Amino acid sequence: MLSTRAARQAGRYRGTNLTTRQLSRTQIQPLFTKSTSRSGRTPRGNGAVGTGSPWRRILSPRLVLARQLSGKPLPQRTSRFLNFGYRAAAVFGTSMLVLGAGVVGFFLYDASTYRQHSSQVDLDVSALALSPRRGGPKNLPILESFLDDDDSEEMRRQKEKPRIVVLGGGWGGVALMKELQPENYHVTIISPTNYFLFTPMLPSATVGTLGLRALVEPIRRIIHGVGGHFLRARAEDVDFSSRLIEVSQIDCHGQEQRFYVPYDKLVIAVGSVTNPHGVKGLQHCHFLKDINDAREIRNSIIANLELACLPTTTDDDRKRLLSFVVCGGGPTGVEFAAELFDLLNEDLTELFPRLLRNEISVHLIQSRDHILNTYDESLSEYAENRFARDQVEVLTNSRVSEVREDSIVFTQKDGNGNIVSKELPMGFCLWSTGVSQNEFCKRIAKKLGSAQNNRHALETDTHLRVNGTPLGDVYAIGDCATVQNNVADHIVTFLRSLAWKHGSDPENLQLRFEDWRRVAEQVKKRFPQAVGHLKRLDKLFAEYDRDQSGTLDFGELRELLKQIDNKLTSLPATAQRAHQQGQYLANKFNKLARATPGLQANDIVDGDLDAAVYRAFEYKHLGSLAYIGNSAVFDLGQGRGVAGGLWAVYAWRSIYFAQSVSFRTRMLMAMDWAKRGLFGRASKSISAGCDPDLEQV
Ligand SMILES: Cc1cc2nc3c(=O)[nH]c(=O)nc-3n(C[C@H](O)[C@H](O)[C@H](O)COP(=O)(O)OP(=O)(O)OC[C@H]3O[C@@H](n4cnc5c(N)ncnc54)[C@H](O)[C@@H]3O)c2cc1C
Repeated sequence: MLSTRAARQAGRYRGTNLTTRQLSRTQIQPLFTKSTSRSGRTPRGNGAVGTGSPWRRILSPRLVLARQLSGKPLPQRTSRFLNFGYRAAAVFGTSMLVLGAGVVGFFLYDASTYRQHSSQVDLDVSALALSPRRGGPKNLPILESFLDDDDSEEMRRQKEKPRIVVLGGGWGGVALMKELQPENYHVTIISPTNYFLFTPMLPSATVGTLGLRALVEPIRRIIHGVGGHFLRARAEDVDFSSRLIEVSQIDCHGQEQRFYVPYDKLVIAVGSVTNPHGVKGLQHCHFLKDINDAREIRNSIIANLELACLPTTTDDDRKRLLSFVVCGGGPTGVEFAAELFDLLNEDLTELFPRLLRNEISVHLIQSRDHILNTYDESLSEYAENRFARDQVEVLTNSRVSEVREDSIVFTQKDGNGNIVSKELPMGFCLWSTGVSQNEFCKRIAKKLGSAQNNRHALETDTHLRVNGTPLGDVYAIGDCATVQNNVADHIVTFLRSLAWKHGSDPENLQLRFEDWRRVAEQVKKRFPQAVGHLKRLDKLFAEYDRDQSGTLDFGELRELLKQIDNKLTSLPATAQRAHQQGQYLANKFNKLARATPGLQANDIVDGDLDAAVYRAFEYKHLGSLAYIGNSAVFDLGQGRGVAGGLWAVYAWRSIYFAQSVSFRTRMLMAMDWAKRGLFGRASKSISAGCDPDLEQV
């Protein structure tokens, strides 16, 4: 580098008629005597090449050293253009080198991922795994040993550990798996789908903002970390007395096969189905629960747009085909409507005839008086205003009564409280109106009889144990479960037993403030979700001591507890709740495993072991998010919330990016968002004739 620079500089002195030899002679002299003229300027002119001259550098390294020590500024090239050119060439060269090294490195890595040799070795597989014995109430094969039980040293150790079986590989099941310490249990996940689905981003996948692959993670990859087992099958029933789960699967001959899976602890996390609300004609609707739903929705939107372009399509049919209706103004319905509007507005109208843009309409039907009605009021209003601006029609106070092949029939309450019946032509309808119990849970609830009284979910106690099942055997988490709140009933029973124990009639009970404080402590311990309602004990005491006697009698106490009970709403059916419950159970199981030797040593094997070793489940609301079309709203609870434009969209994306299940899905998400910016949504490519099969999972 030095020598080229020097050579370049040499060119500048060509006009002096000095040879290199002459230059060197004239230059050496002043270096050892005086490097500059008095004026401090570099001597120039015939033979007077200054000490700052680059010629010195090619003469001797010692001279260069002397020049550097002199502290004078280094010579600058005078041509800016050349300067820029050299710098650009250096940057380009370095980048090419780095890129080249990256490409070579990638190919080396890629080559290392191909296996050259077969990995077949002799294996120990238990005879019971290959041909299971039959038994149980229906004399079905019992899966006592798994094909992969001897696959590794760790799995061999787990073989003899207590068996935890998790039904469902969704938010609840996967959170549990990820938190469980593998050395303590033999763990199995049973689910008809062999992947975990990141549902919050599913609306984005329906319109191709994200690819479906970015939202799914194979269950086998997740359980590999804890040495768990996976069965792709559907749970059909449970025999609680013999601790056997009956599961079904279609075999390679297309026949349904049923068998039993034994458990020591069973966790039911099978999610929910869409609530039909008894409406007729839902076969004409799309649902949004699974990856296949997202794929069908995407195809249906594109198909409608293509049909609308045909010359044989009448005006009325075109309007109907382009009328997109979303039933349900909760977060899923709202997010889908927003994504749909973005797709139609930003991508497809560019490629389709402009007439379509004028005729496209998006309608959102909501039974309550606001959309996003579980969010803070200001956020609901923000979302409604945003939709009004984007020409998404929001029909509040409207109840769908029937879905026909080409229209929706609904009733709407007007401003005067009158109910008017209306019909809306539609070419596409999404039904997204809350959740309900699936067939498996209904069967279980029926079996447990009077212990289960909720029509929408399996009732559990605050330790998430299913009511009516043997204590500590069966748990339920996520959308399929609800934590029973009957605070009043439980405490009243508790107080009655306390009163009888002290030999007094509960009806004559009189609680002084100190007694009430103790009772409140018990309530808080057993029902952590009531803590927020038991902050001002003195106020509550004064309010319910109606006769001002300074004590609470039994009737007054019952009233007070009922009021708290009413305030405790059931927990939301969200990923957040399922995730927290999964983690809670895993932590409890870990603790139980650690405590077991101690409990056994003390002969404690029965009773309320969960309560003995671990606290009750407490839900912590971390806020709710919703995308509403190039803007997003954040409900932080207790009346706090934020809404905003693109910055909020980036914040919304960042939160879900961080929550995504693996590094792989995060990378795919980031790439999809970048692709959207560069080439538009995937649906645009599909409509433009690219391969629609890209999204096979
Ligand atoms: C489109 C959409 C968007 C959403 N957005 C959000 C959001 O932004 N934020 C949020 O907090 N929540 C959101 N949710 C809700 C959230 O997805 C659910 O609350 C969450 O998935 C519940 O978790 P889960 O484990 O109970 O059930 P799921 O995650 O639904 O998992 C159920 C699992 O059980 C399996 N299963 C079903 N039947 C059986 C059976 N008989 N035997 C064995 N396995 C079975 C299923 O295959 C699945 O693997 C959204 C839901 C949807 C559909």
